[in-house]
Amino acid sequence: MADVAQTDAVILKAAKAFESWRKVNPGDRAKLLRKFAALVDSHNEELAQLEVLNSGHTISNARWEAGNVRDVLNYYSAAPERLFGRQIPVPNGIDITFKEPLGVIGIIVPWNFPMPIAGWGFGPALAAGNTVVLKPAEVTPMTAIRLGELALEAGIPEGVFNVIAGKGSVVGDRFVTNPLVRKIVFTGSTTVGKGIMRGCADQVKRLTLELGGKSANIIFADADVEKAAANAPGAVFDNAGQDCCARSRLLVQSSVYDKFMENFEVAVKKFRCEDPSLDTAEMGPLITAKQLETVRGYVPENTKVAFQGSTPEGPGYWFPATVLEVTDVSERTYREEIFGPVVSVIRFEDEDDAVRIANDSEFGLSGSIWSRDIGRAVRVSRAVEAGNLSVNSNSSVRYWTPFGGYKQSGLGRELGPDALDAFTETKNVFFDTQL
Ligand code: NAP
Ligand code: MG
Repeated sequence: MADVAQTDAVILKAAKAFESWRKVNPGDRAKLLRKFAALVDSHNEELAQLEVLNSGHTISNARWEAGNVRDVLNYYSAAPERLFGRQIPVPNGIDITFKEPLGVIGIIVPWNFPMPIAGWGFGPALAAGNTVVLKPAEVTPMTAIRLGELALEAGIPEGVFNVIAGKGSVVGDRFVTNPLVRKIVFTGSTTVGKGIMRGCADQVKRLTLELGGKSANIIFADADVEKAAANAPGAVFDNAGQDCCARSRLLVQSSVYDKFMENFEVAVKKFRCEDPSLDTAEMGPLITAKQLETVRGYVPENTKVAFQGSTPEGPGYWFPATVLEVTDVSERTYREEIFGPVVSVIRFEDEDDAVRIANDSEFGLSGSIWSRDIGRAVRVSRAVEAGNLSVNSNSSVRYWTPFGGYKQSGLGRELGPDALDAFTETKNVFFDTQL
């Protein structure tokens, strides 16, 4: 648990390391990132097991998550030699743009996806020639620390990639106030994100925000309703609902509502909530007693639920997969991000109605549209205000496509080619060639 002085010392180290890291031959920087990726790959099982202990993730998810860090590193290892500027025509000279690294990047990570969210920051940041100070969440530091060790083992010079465990209010806040940190990448709650945005204003510090969500899963009558229902539990209950992309609002067209709910009930009851270290587990416990209390606060004992999944006997912060039917959209459970395995189902009549309900949220991170009508799928995917949508699928993340939120779900984009712009400044230089 680092204090402010220790945090400053690490930031200073990262600032000094930047002077040499930015000058490393691009091909050599690329090779170091690929070496780091190879070590993450050869330690996949170890990292996955550690993540189960760290966060209670299911082992199958944790293997995917460590694989995602490897993929992100490999993807951005192609960037150092390709950070092209432009040559722009001007009279009497030459005009060139350069993509330059910013300096020290402060990455603040939440507990819900400790490995991937860290990697989405440090992969492109390091590739673009920045150095990194990374703060994992207080309750999930272990995999971040192990990734830091693997970076050193790969030969990434000391000081380039630093992991500092500690409190958000101490270490994270110091990232914001220390002027040597040139950019913050924050993933976490909307409330903390707003405070960080205010703090960054003092120094006009660059900022990427990935915040909360309350995403809609929209099922039209012309969809493959059985398939949509069979996939709907994973879309919200994966990671016990502690997922910013969770489709925690289910919008179902009236004419297929009953059919959908019958199929959905079967799927929810089959969704395996058990010891997350088992290969068969689809959902584990919540992260902390506090998170369990928060979720219980939204769904107290006497709440009328449509149906629920089961939880195993024994210790653990278990909460069952829970389905609520909604008639009043002003209810807290329908409007707020619960960050637990709870979904609110609501009916809609037609396409306009679906879009209106979907957009009736302060958030706009992800969402799904289920329809076999291609025109409708295109229209609705253009009309829903969210950064990541999928049609006839509930997938959210591909490391080579951009990820981020509309409205209060965030600012800027991670992953894909867009992220490189977020970790570079564009410098324009004019050379006068007149005698
Ligand atoms: P959180 O409380 O906002 O914390 C996130 C991180 O910020 C933690 O490392 C935390 O440190 C740190 N922090 C807390 N207060 C801070 C401060 N004043 N200054 C600087 N840093 C501070 O969020 P959480 O409870 O861990 O995670 C759940 C939330 O994250 C959900 O709302 C979820 O939607 C959001 N999330 C969004 C995405 C996305 O990509 N959009 C992805 C995952 C999660 P401590 O560990 O010490 O609290
Ligand atoms: Mg918190």
